[in-house]
Amino acid sequence: MPGFHLNIPRLQSFHDAFTGLAGWALVWRRDLVVRINGRRHGLGLRVLRHRDEIRIGDGDPVFYSTETLPVVIPFPGAGEPVFCTRCQLALEPGQPVVRCPGERCGGGYYYHAQEGQRDCFNYGPCLVCGYEPTGQTTFQWTPTEVYA
Ligand SMILES: [Zn+2]
Ligand SMILES: [Zn+2]
Repeated sequence: MPGFHLNIPRLQSFHDAFTGLAGWALVWRRDLVVRINGRRHGLGLRVLRHRDEIRIGDGDPVFYSTETLPVVIPFPGAGEPVFCTRCQLALEPGQPVVRCPGERCGGGYYYHAQEGQRDCFNYGPCLVCGYEPTGQTTFQWTPTEVYA
C-alpha cells in the first residue's frame, strides 16, 4: 500500500455508491498509538465523525469537523416543488437560498436568503434542527466546548 510505511496517519476519502455514505477515514500503521476521543484504536482505520478528537502519540490533539458555513446559492431546483422551510412559499430555481448547514439537517432544508424584506434563514434558528444563524461567517463549533 503506497505510503503505508509512513509514521503519520493519512486521511482517506471514501464514497460508497451502494449505500450513498461518504466521508473521511483515518488510516494509520497499526503500531502507531492513535487515540480518538481518548480511546486507543488498534485497527489502523477509523471513519471520522463530527467533533472527533485525534491524538497521535504524545502529540497535541487535532479535531475533525464536518460543519460547513451557510452560503447563499442559487436554488438548484428539483423535480418537484420545494418550499422554504420558514415561510412555506415555493422556491424558484435560480432564486437565492441558504441550505441549512446544521449537522442534523442532512443538507436537505432550504430557506430564502436575504432578498428585499425577506430573510428567512437569518430570521431565527432552523425549524428542523435548531441551527442558530450567527451572521453566516463563523463556525458554530469549536473544540473548546469539548473541555468545557
Ligand atoms: Zn422563506
Ligand atoms: Zn437545520
